[in-house]
Amino acid sequence: MIRTTTDAARGDYAEHYHPNTEELGAAEMRITALGTGRPFLRRSQANASWLIELGNGDKFVFDFGFGSQMNFTALEIPYNDITAWFATHLHTDHVGDFGQVWIGSWAGGRLKPLEVYGPSGPVTKYGFRHFIEKQRESYAWDTDTRVGLLPAIGAEVNVHEFDYSKVHVVYEHNGVKITSFPAVHIYDGPVSLKLEWNGLTFVYSGDTTPSTFMVENAQGADVLVHETFNTVGQLMERSGYDERTARGIGTMAHSDPGEAASVVAQCDPRLFVAFHFFNDFDTAPEMEAEIRKHWSGPLALATDFMVINATKERIVQRMAVISNHVWPNKARHKGFGAAARKERMQMSAWLREREVYPKG
Ligand SMILES: [Zn+2]
Ligand SMILES: [Zn+2]
Repeated sequence: MIRTTTDAARGDYAEHYHPNTEELGAAEMRITALGTGRPFLRRSQANASWLIELGNGDKFVFDFGFGSQMNFTALEIPYNDITAWFATHLHTDHVGDFGQVWIGSWAGGRLKPLEVYGPSGPVTKYGFRHFIEKQRESYAWDTDTRVGLLPAIGAEVNVHEFDYSKVHVVYEHNGVKITSFPAVHIYDGPVSLKLEWNGLTFVYSGDTTPSTFMVENAQGADVLVHETFNTVGQLMERSGYDERTARGIGTMAHSDPGEAASVVAQCDPRLFVAFHFFNDFDTAPEMEAEIRKHWSGPLALATDFMVINATKERIVQRMAVISNHVWPNKARHKGFGAAARKERMQMSAWLREREVYPKG
């Protein structure tokens, strides 16, 4: 269930967002939900991921949980256009699609190294750099067999690991400032992210229990995407968890809807977007009722393909209309032919000799 902006409040925006039909205004930010669900992947809601497009041409993806990249490609945005990818923490429902971010974007037209940012941990093995390096190592057969066929530069990854424990600017280019601050989520390492550009502020909690870090850093955000899990009752009834498990997941690892709303109320954003719960027709009303005990301002209960356009003047929320049959954007493959390859891997002669139609 999603409440779409009414006709009157929508102004000139079309009722639905159709990819590649709307030029972003020079002072406008567009936020698209690529994944809004829980670690249990389901077709209606992929794992956590948010796309932020800016009027200056920059595009960022915050988190890339399982399934989310199928939603990314449905928006028909060339992978080459993504400025950088950011991870909030190393749970699979936030970084599980790294393989697709890396390899899919390469096959899909990326002609520059992948730029990925993520937090350190209290020890090396819990840090983002370790995660990426091990992912790359484990895909050795994959990349070594591709570099002779695809532009070799696409295999390259620039890892930018930043200190999880500080409140600090971790990215500053082209008028865009991204600040990381600690999230309070099970163990040391997770962060929340704040993107500031052109007088607009977008804050994304990642996973966090209610924290004063959020209250201090999300003051007056234009759009605040804050996590909340389903209510303990819903977790018990619908998922069959016992009460201890439901409370552990829903209130100790995550924010329950009332807690999330009370933190958001202290931040007072122009729009509160609640995500990280199963948003169904029969669960949304109770979620909203819990939130409304603490937050009376503008609210969106997120689901995949929710699109938010934000300017100083207005914030509009709609759903995207997408195709299930998207191909990589052919216009962005122009450089592919000329880009350098590495030498192709050579299979053993006994395999080669069995080719019915040898291509050399
Ligand atoms: Zn998590
Ligand atoms: Zn999560």
